[in-house]
Amino acid sequence: MSVRIHPMVCGWLEVDTKFLLDQQPGRVKIPIPSFLIDHPKGQAVFDTGLHRSLQTNSDRIGDLARIFTVHYRQGEDLGGRLRARGFEPERIDYLINSHLHFDHAGGNADVPNAKLVIQRREWEAGADPGLIRKNGYNRADFDLGHQLKLIDGEHDLFGDGSVVCIPTYGHTAGHQSLRVRLDSGETVLTADSCYMRKVLDEMVLPPFADSYDAMRQVIERFRTMERAGARLIFGHDPAQWRDDGSIAVALG
Ligand SMILES: [Zn+2]
Repeated sequence: MSVRIHPMVCGWLEVDTKFLLDQQPGRVKIPIPSFLIDHPKGQAVFDTGLHRSLQTNSDRIGDLARIFTVHYRQGEDLGGRLRARGFEPERIDYLINSHLHFDHAGGNADVPNAKLVIQRREWEAGADPGLIRKNGYNRADFDLGHQLKLIDGEHDLFGDGSVVCIPTYGHTAGHQSLRVRLDSGETVLTADSCYMRKVLDEMVLPPFADSYDAMRQVIERFRTMERAGARLIFGHDPAQWRDDGSIAVALG
């Protein structure tokens, strides 16, 4: 039996491009992805999209609503997406957060019985009052009593090398990406360590980062991985998704 990825879009955000890519003009509508990783030994969700309440109004994100216009319909939340694919949210084994921003941990409540796998330094950043303010972390998204697995660096989820958390610090203090070995080859879910193709190809970086040096090193590493044949799925690249929320990248 092999590993499968079920890509899901749990909302869209419309934003001036300059908030994602420094000094770039225009406006862009970005997908907010979540991924179900179906492994013979269990099921994991990588990131959880936007909180369900944003389908009704933007109150939950406060001042960020002045920057982001939310496009989010009923049924697009993680719980709805999982059920539509025949998975029971209550039976998901692992919840992996790349980091704790509202567009990555907003649906954590939808998988209440999963063990939360996160880099220790990200979890600690999420508890640091100064960083909560700076990063806009909302503890109501993620401080929900999940059983915790705090990791430091690489972590092989099922012990067979097929699903591996890889530290990609820089966007936030403890950001991580996920490397998945499919029959069709290696796939890397970069999350926000690389928003989109333009970041990888042109090293156009976001207007904010926890560490630009770390972020540049991570992007160099992704370039090397891609040259070696890995398929990269970026954090918020509209070119990789269709309007109906399906992915436009062949996963084999
Ligand atoms: Zn994001």
